[in-house]
Amino acid sequence: MVFIMKPNVPEEKIRSFAAGWEERGFGTILSVGTEHTAVCLIGNTAAVDIDHVVETSGIVAYGKRITEQYKAVNRTVHADSTIVRVGDVRIGEGTFTVISGPCSVESEEQILEVASRVKAAGARILRGGAFKPRTSPYSFQGLQADGIKLLLQAKKETGLPIVSEIMNQTQTPYFEDVDIVQIGARNMQNYDLLRAVGKMNKPVLLKRGIASTIEELLMSAEYILAAGNKNVILCERGIRTFEPMTRNTLDLSAVVLLKQKSHLPVIVDPSHAAGIRSLVAPLAKAVLAVGADGIMVETHNNPAAALCDGAQSLDLDQFDALMEDLKKRAPLENKTL
Ligand code: PEP
Ligand code: MN
Repeated sequence: MVFIMKPNVPEEKIRSFAAGWEERGFGTILSVGTEHTAVCLIGNTAAVDIDHVVETSGIVAYGKRITEQYKAVNRTVHADSTIVRVGDVRIGEGTFTVISGPCSVESEEQILEVASRVKAAGARILRGGAFKPRTSPYSFQGLQADGIKLLLQAKKETGLPIVSEIMNQTQTPYFEDVDIVQIGARNMQNYDLLRAVGKMNKPVLLKRGIASTIEELLMSAEYILAAGNKNVILCERGIRTFEPMTRNTLDLSAVVLLKQKSHLPVIVDPSHAAGIRSLVAPLAKAVLAVGADGIMVETHNNPAAALCDGAQSLDLDQFDALMEDLKKRAPLENKTL
């Protein structure tokens, strides 16, 4: 249940209203927006009489039942679109943020070359996996702690903020200077990890699980917000279907629905969705057209020699071409790149 406050109610009154509900055993979420402030009740609200609350509180404009299980991420509770800030990069409404870099950090030379080229082309954030979740234990598992060090070096040299995947809670110390922590598809429902990143003081990029519903993705984001971290970016990265010609099937409907149901920014990873290099640029254009807040694209200085996901990685010139194209298209969608 959500109560929308009347305009200009002093904050201490709202806080004591919320505290009253907490004394009665409810959890509360306070959401301050530009238009209005809302107090959301968590718990069994079946016996709460909305009209009675409106009449007696003096500060509530109206109340609404929220049938969805996700509350903190729900647009009903927070009408304004959340903008996630990373340094001077804003991810959300009005912008189309391009995140790019290799699947995995492989060497100093590789990450520095890719970082400087994707920056020159207009990417705003550098990606690179250090701890890699691989299907086979015999595949390259990432440079681990050394990979993070190389990413930090690339961050220092280019000024680009960095995003990298965390695989479990024991790795949090390595992520101290990483700007955005990524939860990969395989870990989307690792609830202990979700709670742990919910306690980290930095944005989280949460990827959709390969067989997870839209609602499950929202519930996973809810874990992070419920643990105290409001800076979550949702990422559609393709889901497993019966179609074997692509690595996954890009679910563009999910982008639109996620933006309707939630106030969180939504980006798309067309690289993992397709698994095929030649599909990445066309899909990226579709992603922009459908209203997403950005993309994460894998780019490599030598895709043929990549230790991970070479087949879906753009080379540096292909990434340049994609960026040129997106720069032309973004204004038509009222987005700045
Ligand atoms: C990745 O981004 O490198 C990755 C492993 O993606 P996903 O979790 O979507 O498979
Ligand atoms: Mn990859």
